[in-house]
Amino acid sequence: METENADARTYEKIVLTLVVPVFNESETVSLFMERVKKVFDEFDWIGLDVVFVNDGSTDNTLERLLELKNHYRSIRIVDLSRNFGKEAALTAGLKIASGHVVVPIDVDLQDPPELIIEMIQKWQEGYDVVVGKRINRDSDSWIKRKSATWFYRIHNKISEPKIPENVGDFRLMDRSVVEALNELPESRRFMKGLFTWVGFRTTAIEYARPERIAGTTKFNGWRLWNFALEGITSFSTDPLRIWAYIGGVVASISFLFAIFMIFKVLLYGVDVPGYASVVVAVTFLGGLQLVGIGIIGEYIGRSYIESKRRPVYLVRRVYGQKD
Ligand code: UDP
Ligand code: MG
Repeated sequence: METENADARTYEKIVLTLVVPVFNESETVSLFMERVKKVFDEFDWIGLDVVFVNDGSTDNTLERLLELKNHYRSIRIVDLSRNFGKEAALTAGLKIASGHVVVPIDVDLQDPPELIIEMIQKWQEGYDVVVGKRINRDSDSWIKRKSATWFYRIHNKISEPKIPENVGDFRLMDRSVVEALNELPESRRFMKGLFTWVGFRTTAIEYARPERIAGTTKFNGWRLWNFALEGITSFSTDPLRIWAYIGGVVASISFLFAIFMIFKVLLYGVDVPGYASVVVAVTFLGGLQLVGIGIIGEYIGRSYIESKRRPVYLVRRVYGQKD
C-alpha cells in the first residue's frame, strides 16, 4: 500500500475524488457539476470521481442529483438517512472516497474547482496535504468575520494542534491522509481539527473566497456558536482545568479577607454592617460556580455521547457508478 501511494504521484493518469456534502442545494448542484466538468475536461490525465453526500435534504436535491448522475458517469451519491450535519456528511464521503487524491469541496462554488489543478501540482511535488487559504473573507458578514477571528484566537491559545486561520475544509489530501482520517474513532467530528491533527506534509495555496453562487448559507449564528464550542471542547481540556486556578485565586482572596476581618474585630470590636458585601460575595461566587458546573457539564455531555458509540451517520442508500 505504502509504495503504491508514493508511486501515484508519478502515474500518467490519476483519479481525483471530490467529496461534496449537500443539504438543500437543489439550486446549486447542477451549476456545480457544469463548472467542475468544464475545469476537468481539459485534463484527460485526471479521472474524475464525484461523491455527493446528500445530508438529509428536504427539498428535491436528491432528484436533481439522480438526474445529474444520468448525464455524468463519474457521479456517486451517498444518501444519508437524515441531516447529520456537514462534519458527518464529510466523514461519510471520505469513507468511500477512493481516488489517489481526495478533495472535500462545498457545492456552492465558494471553493473554486480551478484551484484543484494547482493543488495537484503541489501534491506531485511531494506534499500530502494542500490547503486552500482564504486571503479575504469579504463574502462573509462582518459579524461572521469577527467571530471567526475570535474563535481562532481562543482555540489556538488553548488547543493542540493549532488550526491554521482562514483555512476551511477545502483541501487536497493524498490517499494515505484520508486513510488516517478514516481510522480516527471519535463520533463527534470537528473536521477542521481532525484534518490538522493527522498532520502530514502540508502546504497552502491562497485564494479569494467568492460569494455563494445560489441558495443560502446553512450556518446561522446559533449553529456557528455551537460549532465553535464543539471545536474548542474537542481539542482542549483547558476550560475544565481553569476552574482549579480560579478557585485557588478566590480562596486566597477570601483567606486574606478573613485575616483582615479577625484583626479588625480584635482592634475595633464587632461590627454588624456589611450586608451588601455579603450579598455581592454570595451571588458572585454562586454565578462563578454555575459557570464552572456548566463547563464541566459540557464535557460530561460529550463523554456521554462519545461513550454510546453510535455511528456518526446512517446511509439510506448508495447510488454507485454502475447502477
Ligand atoms: N452542508 C451539509 N450539511 C449541513 C449544512 C451544510 O452538507 O447540515 C453543506 C452545504 O450543502 C454546502 C457546505 O456544507 O455544500 C457548506 O455550507 P454553506 O455554504 O451553507 O456554509 P458557508 O459557506 O456559509 O459557511
Ligand atoms: Mg458556502
